[in-house]
Amino acid sequence: MGIYDVVVVGAGPVGLATAIGLYRRGIDNLLVIDQTRSFRKVGQGLSLLPNGLKAIKYLDFQAYEQVKKTGNILFNPNSLNQQKTSDRTTQRPKNTNPSFEWVQKNCQGQRLDSTPLDYNYWLQKCGEGRLSISWYDLQTTLRHILPQDLVKPNHRCINVINEPESGCARIDCVSNKTAEANPYAHWTEVASDNNQQTANVESFPQQLQTKSLRAKLVIAADGINSTVRNILYANSPYHAFAQPEYSGFAAIGCREISEVPNALSTELEAKFFEGSPILTVFDDQVLADSKSVGNPSMILFRRSSGQMGYVLHTPLPLENLNDKSGGLLVELALQELEKANFPNSIRELVRISPSVNMLQRPYYIHRAIISDSIPFPSTANLNSGDYTGKIEPAWGNNRVVLIGDAAHGMPPFMGQGANQGLEDAGVLTTLVTNLAQENNWDNMPVIAEAFEKYERLRRPIMESIQEATLRQSDWYQKEWQEYQQKVYCRNFEQEMEALL
Ligand SMILES: Cc1cc2nc3c(=O)[nH]c(=O)nc-3n(C[C@H](O)[C@H](O)[C@H](O)COP(=O)(O)OP(=O)(O)OC[C@H]3O[C@@H](n4cnc5c(N)ncnc54)[C@H](O)[C@@H]3O)c2cc1C
Repeated sequence: MGIYDVVVVGAGPVGLATAIGLYRRGIDNLLVIDQTRSFRKVGQGLSLLPNGLKAIKYLDFQAYEQVKKTGNILFNPNSLNQQKTSDRTTQRPKNTNPSFEWVQKNCQGQRLDSTPLDYNYWLQKCGEGRLSISWYDLQTTLRHILPQDLVKPNHRCINVINEPESGCARIDCVSNKTAEANPYAHWTEVASDNNQQTANVESFPQQLQTKSLRAKLVIAADGINSTVRNILYANSPYHAFAQPEYSGFAAIGCREISEVPNALSTELEAKFFEGSPILTVFDDQVLADSKSVGNPSMILFRRSSGQMGYVLHTPLPLENLNDKSGGLLVELALQELEKANFPNSIRELVRISPSVNMLQRPYYIHRAIISDSIPFPSTANLNSGDYTGKIEPAWGNNRVVLIGDAAHGMPPFMGQGANQGLEDAGVLTTLVTNLAQENNWDNMPVIAEAFEKYERLRRPIMESIQEATLRQSDWYQKEWQEYQQKVYCRNFEQEMEALL
């Protein structure tokens, strides 16, 4: 059997974007494999922020154009005039159309802050816009850019072995086997009140086919519950970091409440929505206290058809979520809201949530750097006290390299998981293309050096973003401008030019 130049494990946004970048630069002896039996509608909505869009543009202009076409781009015709005033730290003008911003309010309904959602605002400020897109639409859009035979579903990677004697890595896969639920990849759906969860399981005959592929390089983009990471870290100094750690935070949500009584709807509209389709509510009294990491926050959304929904982000011990039916999740959410003094109207909305529409998701993390200085809430099931000094779990070894969530997955509070993975894709594409051009596929020191370069560039950025994610409430108030400059406004193309 032939040897691929590159096998990408995982056809999520990051794996596909990497493959597109390589393919466009002439590396077409490549394959992307995914465990899913067939590509289908799963996953949540994503914000692609200026830095992520810049990375896609760098990887492939056609992909960038297609993603922009598929994504939901908001254009506010007044945004250019509002440039100077519409800023997160300044008072926004009263006549701003609220649907172009994501407002933050306190429990009394006072507006604290807002984030513009309008494409042009970010384009002017950071050299690229922002858009929202569902995970599935992003995957589908990217998948369709590659020739169909380069992306293979129903290939679940179960092992990766370095084969120095044949100058490649071997990737063992199974196909046509009931796909196991992946507890980290998607929402766990709660079917009913009978204490049973319908996991993300597809049913098809229990036939097991194993297959081995061989490649000069394996790029592991298999998400936060990465199999390749597990294999890479087994029997290594990093074995304690093979599995994702619970971050201490979880989401409890209701995807749809269609029958909101008129009086409640009016009250929520007057005090909170005020015409906005989405907003976040939190207790700003708690926010003022710097020890407030994990302050519960409630994202409320309202569709144009009038249906409402919410996502409550709250610090919770993991065991509190185990085996919870929809009804028990409602109770848990109510307890959390009560503890944080959320107003009656919001609690009432939660109380009437249909249990079949309830969702829960614990958030996991692969920390880029394990050190005492990165805060973790006491609810996390970590042994971080066991570590002293600084540990940087390696992202590459031999012919295998981790990318995206497999390297540094994290809770979505700063909306950077996919965006950072796309930046990884840009960096690795550049380095691997250089290896190919110099025909260094078998030059192990040069490959090791390329992986080191990738880590040197990416790890410090990931450290600061993970820190911002875990300290979210502090950052919102104090360092937002600096953060935007550092994360959104960088010139990605220039960074790539300087890489080699
Ligand atoms: C509620 C929520 C909101 C979010 N919002 C944002 C946001 O606004 N902005 C943002 O940038 N990010 C956001 N994220 C994070 C974002 O979804 C992830 O960071 C991103 O999807 C990571 O991409 P990935 O390709 O690395 O991994 P994934 O998207 O997890 O894809 C991994 C792929 O690998 C496949 N796979 C897994 N195991 C195997 C195996 N053994 N063999 C073969 N294939 C395998 C999976 O089937 C999957 O297709 C959010 C996440 C959540 C949960």
